[in-house]
Amino acid sequence: AAPARDRLRIAIQKSGRLAEPARALLSSCGLSWRESRDRLFCYGETLPVDLLLVRDDDIPGLIADGVCDLGIVGRNVLLEQDGERRGIGRAPAFREWRALGFGGCRLALAVPDGWEWRSVSQLAGKRIATSYPALLSQWLATQCIDAKVVVLSGSVEIAPRLGQADAICDLVSSGATLAANQLKPVQTLIESEAVLAGPEQAFDDVRGELADLLLRRLDGALRIRH
Ligand code: ATP
Ligand code: ZN
Repeated sequence: AAPARDRLRIAIQKSGRLAEPARALLSSCGLSWRESRDRLFCYGETLPVDLLLVRDDDIPGLIADGVCDLGIVGRNVLLEQDGERRGIGRAPAFREWRALGFGGCRLALAVPDGWEWRSVSQLAGKRIATSYPALLSQWLATQCIDAKVVVLSGSVEIAPRLGQADAICDLVSSGATLAANQLKPVQTLIESEAVLAGPEQAFDDVRGELADLLLRRLDGALRIRH
């Protein structure tokens, strides 16, 4: 078992869409920090709650490995990595503790503007580019559609124009990026937003009390916002 710890460590995105709102939310819970010189670690001052600033994709794994206790990450990333773990027969190692009400977007299927969209069965035999292979494959299986999943780590929206894929499955918020690439969203797979992620099991040391305190303050802050 991991050694007992007397401070809580929360992973948040170092830079990107969720970085500022995550810090603002935690600040509104009365937390403050002293930043390290390399800006990767923030030492909690008002409470023993520290921050680790990382790539969002690393957050579920940091929780699974016990390097961090909690994290703020998009539901899309959490579910994809959970699906990936299930796919290789591993036990769930993290879950959503709270939805946080920012970073809203959806994981959607999009097809070229020129397609006349009637039903999902049109995807049979097509190539679909995505950075979310586990979620897309799961969804295709529930729809009983046999399509080829083309895994790309970025710039998914240009794949149809490059002839790499027929359709895409990607995050959409305003839809402007899709429109700029002559694509249209036709089906939502997942509604996403930033979430507080934590381990499957509660903490069995002082971190449990810190997490409870943080959750109470977080729930208060979220109520005021909505
Ligand atoms: P990192 O460098 O940390 O890997 P990234 O480029 O993967 O950053 P961002 O683009 O900052 O990540 O997106 C972080 C999260 O913001 C996404 O996982 C998603 O939950 C959310 N999000 C909200 N709207 C959008 C959108 N239009 N496109 C992409 N992500 C969005
Ligand atoms: Zn990322």
